[in-house]
Amino acid sequence: MRVLRRGDTGPEVAEIRSMLSGLDLLPPGDGSDGYGTFDAVVEHAVRAFQQRRGLITDGIVGPATYRALRGSSYHLGSRPLAYLISSPVHGDDVFTLQERLTELGYDAGRPDGGFGPQTERALRNFQRDYGLTVDGICGPATVRALRQLSPRARGGRPVFLREQEQVRRAGPRLRGKRIVIDPGHGGPDLGVAVNGVHESEVAWDLARRLEGRMKATGMEALISRGPGHSPSELERAQFANEAGADLFLSLHCDGNRSPFAQGVASFHFGTGNGTTSTVGELLAGYIQRELAARTGMLDCRTHPKTWDIFTRTRCPAVRVEIGYLTNQEDRRRLSDPSFRDVVAEGILVAVKRLYLLGENDQPTGTFTFADVLAHELLKAE
Ligand SMILES: [Zn+2]
Repeated sequence: MRVLRRGDTGPEVAEIRSMLSGLDLLPPGDGSDGYGTFDAVVEHAVRAFQQRRGLITDGIVGPATYRALRGSSYHLGSRPLAYLISSPVHGDDVFTLQERLTELGYDAGRPDGGFGPQTERALRNFQRDYGLTVDGICGPATVRALRQLSPRARGGRPVFLREQEQVRRAGPRLRGKRIVIDPGHGGPDLGVAVNGVHESEVAWDLARRLEGRMKATGMEALISRGPGHSPSELERAQFANEAGADLFLSLHCDGNRSPFAQGVASFHFGTGNGTTSTVGELLAGYIQRELAARTGMLDCRTHPKTWDIFTRTRCPAVRVEIGYLTNQEDRRRLSDPSFRDVVAEGILVAVKRLYLLGENDQPTGTFTFADVLAHELLKAE
């Protein structure tokens, strides 16, 4: 291409003027007559563009500035992107793609706006992990997938992106979703037992209350054990896997040598080094928020763990430790059936929020069982 500078005229200058006006650096419609002059106003606009892009600010349109100007008219999705060895694709859309892949944990190299072999490799890996056609082409389906991943997925590991995609595809309704409720301990294993209050029985009763509410919304709720049984963690995970569960929810109460330890905590799969089940973490967070707001129990937050119950289950799994039976106040509350109803409702709403993927802005703690039922009916229409 010809290097363009102040004083030049012709259709190439008209194209430059048109691109600058597309960037709001010149008045709109500029250059539409197909003939243009590279005057002081254009030079000023070129300098402004160069400064914005970190190019040499000389007011002259050489190959680098021209390529950047051409590329700036593309937004991710405005054209399919692929690695073309003969004529490499450059543009702001490539830059956005590279940034997004990097955010999601794929090595697309340093984002530079040029679609090279490394960008293609990262894109193929993303497509494979995400269940898309692995063609190395960033077309409409890939763009949609990139857009739909919530910012929560940033830094998450690819295998868990699929979990999140499944939740999104499953839609906001609870009807038809299969959840395994797993009351801890059971039978001869009482769990924490203080003054005749047994963890195994509290967990069982909570599981039944939750099961009833879930079934009322049309969910398929399954309980992992009978009232008098105590399967191993592995057996509980197998139960969920064989049932083809969408979610696994384990209910426990805690105990501590200190009578002052109290509150509610939720656990999900995670190594603590950034590898985490994004859906597990999301659900654990909703449960914490709802239970803390509804019960006034101390919020002991969410924690990543690599327990068997998380590594052996194939679906997102959360374990909630609801209160300390060794704490007088927590124990008193948990012995009260109406309190257990509040807990069951809070957990149900947390599951509903998960499937709404943050689309419901009702404040934490105010979403009722009746609201959930109403929402299900609304969505059924
Ligand atoms: Zn327990």
